[in-house]
Amino acid sequence: MKTYRKLEAMFAKHGFDDFKLIEPGKIVIAQWVRMKCAFGCSSYGRNACCPPNVPSVPECREFFGEYRAAAIFHFEKKAKKPEERRPWAARINGSLLKLEREVFLSGYPKAFLLFMDSCHLCGDCALVRAECKQAKSARPAPEALAVDVFSTARQCGYPIEVLPDYSRAMNRYAFLLIE
Ligand code: SF4
Repeated sequence: MKTYRKLEAMFAKHGFDDFKLIEPGKIVIAQWVRMKCAFGCSSYGRNACCPPNVPSVPECREFFGEYRAAAIFHFEKKAKKPEERRPWAARINGSLLKLEREVFLSGYPKAFLLFMDSCHLCGDCALVRAECKQAKSARPAPEALAVDVFSTARQCGYPIEVLPDYSRAMNRYAFLLIE
């Protein structure tokens, strides 16, 4: 894979130093992820960037197939309370959006970010994509686009486990599709 030294420096400038540049073929797309969204996730139909407000799984697979370079970003946090997760994710996703913009302006028109958690840019989500309150900034989480984050993170050499409670650190991942 070709090197992206300028982008790596850009990532570091934005405060992101735990990442890997990967071939998008390492991103595993799976139908079971969508099934989990539809049955068992409280965000289904409750977030304008989550299913059913997203493309079908075959469309997601086609989308990822159009890229030849991507980056995976790792974030770890041990939350004392579940309520800490949303503001933490919103802050990081806001910073990632600025990075996506800079990558885009530096000559990568296909740059596209997948948030490290469901879009929580607004306190009160519009629920429907067409009514999104921050349509230019909202991005889906990897899971919303049927990414099997468990298999993908492990393929990239990163840790991830099912956590039974909040006593252990979370490992969350964002992706930037580059070109
Ligand atoms: S930007 Fe706001 S309205 Fe749009 S998906 Fe995110 S939280 Fe919902």
